Amino acid sequence: MQLDDLYRRVIMDHYKNPRNRGTLDNESVTINLNNPTCGDRIALQLQIEDGKVIDAKFSGEGCSISLSSASMMTQVVKGKTYEQALELAERFSALMKGEEVEFEELEDIEALSGVNKFPARIKCATLSWNALRKGIEQQQQS
Ligand code: ZN
Repeated sequence: MQLDDLYRRVIMDHYKNPRNRGTLDNESVTINLNNPTCGDRIALQLQIEDGKVIDAKFSGEGCSISLSSASMMTQVVKGKTYEQALELAERFSALMKGEEVEFEELEDIEALSGVNKFPARIKCATLSWNALRKGIEQQQQS
């Protein structure tokens, strides 16, 4: 099996069976972001306690890249401190720049590495991560 096929399978699995899709009952923050060039819309909810992301869910609609990325991001961010979550977001940005980055906790994320060859799709992949950054920034200011 080629790596591209494996990556495509991982992405389609998260797209068809999204993890953490839905809404939280006791969210600390909700961030709505969209990506007009593709039509992706996401609402990310985070439950935050003592500077830690306790829970995360997302809703919205969009392409397979944006929704699978949101599924993976919400999976890996749970239990992370602000610093750890922002560090993961930085690592994802590096992945989108074509750098070799490993995600030990959730290797599925590495399936999105091929997106860096398609500049128009990078915004799809980073949408949920940008929502995460924004949510944490809002919490840090409040
Ligand atoms: Zn998209």
